[in-house]
Amino acid sequence: MKKGTIAMRTIRLLAPSRLEMRETDERPAITDSTVRVDIKACGICGSDLALYNGRRDLSGEHYFGHEFSGVITEVGNGANGLKKGMRVASELVKGCGRCWFCRNGMQNYCKSLNDALLPGGFTEQTLVTNTDAYSFLSPIPDELDDITASILEPANCAYHVAMKANIQPGDSVLVIGLGAIGLVAAMILKTMGAGTVIGADRSKLRLEQVRKTGLLDVIDTSEPAWMEQVKEMTAKDGVDIVIEATGAPPVLKDAMAAARTGGKIVVPSVYFGGIDGFEPLPIMRKELTIIGSKGPAPQLKTDGTSAVVEKVVQMKDDLRKLISVYEYKDALQAFADARSGAAIKAVIQFS
Ligand SMILES: [Zn+2]
Ligand SMILES: [Zn+2]
Repeated sequence: MKKGTIAMRTIRLLAPSRLEMRETDERPAITDSTVRVDIKACGICGSDLALYNGRRDLSGEHYFGHEFSGVITEVGNGANGLKKGMRVASELVKGCGRCWFCRNGMQNYCKSLNDALLPGGFTEQTLVTNTDAYSFLSPIPDELDDITASILEPANCAYHVAMKANIQPGDSVLVIGLGAIGLVAAMILKTMGAGTVIGADRSKLRLEQVRKTGLLDVIDTSEPAWMEQVKEMTAKDGVDIVIEATGAPPVLKDAMAAARTGGKIVVPSVYFGGIDGFEPLPIMRKELTIIGSKGPAPQLKTDGTSAVVEKVVQMKDDLRKLISVYEYKDALQAFADARSGAAIKAVIQFS
């Protein structure tokens, strides 16, 4: 560690439910395999909340605060063309390219991720691993502001969901669970040619928030007749594609009921626990395809640039509607609002 001159504001999670806001002049020293990023904005992810709630083990976790935008201020060996002064945002861009997962289109499981250093973006400066075998930063264009750019990482996860859906033009889509991933996946699928796209949630607050954005037709799954509504909206056949993004295991049964015969269910949910009385028969009866979608994955165009950055630029005005911005001094409120659902995507701004 070396001493800097100006104090750096940080938010650390010391233990479940124990956030510490602290100014420090201790900065980790840059190495060959890292770049230093001055953080402009960092969003709060559901996985950050899982760490906060103690649902995930904090020890060995490297991803508290992984949804950030910023400016590169120092580079190690300069891999991946990253340069001082570049505006960047976080997303998984590159795995080693050699392991079984990378060779089979599953870079999100690449072994090089295990060694990656990602101390997190809830601090004014952070080091991010940047090597020939790993990259977690994409350059962003001027037309994307720092706040909107911070949604790149969850947009990458949502893009991964949309790709897993392998949508055909006009396919109907039901997204159950309108957190950021579900919502952004719905928005991306619309741009990819989906027909009817329906959002579903049981939280009145969330339904009202989404209605206000005007981005999506929504139905209330706390209403007993909601499944009938879905069938009405899709000519009684059921939906072609269900995105099950609630994280509540029993909802998988609803997803199977809502899907048409021959339908697909994509599951980005992080489930805890099981399903009482689960009856799997519809998997055979309806020839359902159930597809998992785990976290982010490199989504590069043939020219090597990020397809997700391009998509975020295309959708920037709509994505901005999902974001609530908090100054650093209000960081604890940001976490409270992320937990209560008062914010769809809470983003902490360092300015
Ligand atoms: Zn995340
Ligand atoms: Zn690999």
